[in-house]
Amino acid sequence: MVEALRQVFAEHGIVYAEAIPFSEAKILFQRKIDQLSFAPQSVIMFAIPYYAGELPERNLSRYAVAKDYHLFFRDFSDAVKTELQKLYPAAEFAAFADNSPIDEREAAAKAGLGMLGMNRLLITERYGSYVFLGEFLTNIPYHEIGTLSSFAVRECEKCGLCVASCPKKEICLSALTQKKGDFTRKEEDAILSLGSVWGCDICQEVCPHSQKAEITPLAYFKEDLIAHLTRETVETMSEEDFARRAYSWRGKKTVLRNLLLLNK
Ligand code: SF4
Ligand code: SF4
Repeated sequence: MVEALRQVFAEHGIVYAEAIPFSEAKILFQRKIDQLSFAPQSVIMFAIPYYAGELPERNLSRYAVAKDYHLFFRDFSDAVKTELQKLYPAAEFAAFADNSPIDEREAAAKAGLGMLGMNRLLITERYGSYVFLGEFLTNIPYHEIGTLSSFAVRECEKCGLCVASCPKKEICLSALTQKKGDFTRKEEDAILSLGSVWGCDICQEVCPHSQKAEITPLAYFKEDLIAHLTRETVETMSEEDFARRAYSWRGKKTVLRNLLLLNK
């Protein structure tokens, strides 16, 4: 990516940012592409690090300890877009994070932000897999912003630790903690043995690359942390505060159900 663009991301604490041609991206939702007001020619991928260090008694997935990353992403993408627009006044930009029309992990790997792990996550050198991916689709031709000559995807060394450590049987336990309604007896046992109120990090934590992850430089992911959630915390949280947590999208009822099961 050209230096001026790289600088914009660096000023916001993001070191992993790189462009690829749109033709290199695998489209997952054509409808979302069709809804854009422009024809994308390039994708600017970036990785937002969130690892806040080791937190005692944490009973939530690491990504859910800080306030909801979608709120960070909204402000961050607005600010970066303003800067990008100054550099390319006639260009169009559309920002996405996890509701993306493209395969973000593959695009990030093609952009050289990291390698694809057997745990199906993108693994960066500095922050392991503790990153959120996001991107700007833009109508700037690749030759005007991109500098990569190869878009080869690197894969991890396949040590197999993540697969061997995964406790899932039929369903990923991270997804199970987010399931609506009642648990079956088998599901209850799975959650109890996991001991997590929200999410599962096992296949990330055992990965040698994530074990040497650096702490995020981004203040947002180091402030206002709730590492150990209890029923009392949830019940006394205002609706506004609850809405700012990553687990709020499923509603208090789902989170309280998990807490009750875990007797927290
Ligand atoms: S999040 Fe947990 S249950 Fe899901 S694949 Fe990883 S280790 Fe397995
Ligand atoms: S634990 Fe090993 S196989 Fe799994 S993602 Fe990490 S390096 Fe790859």
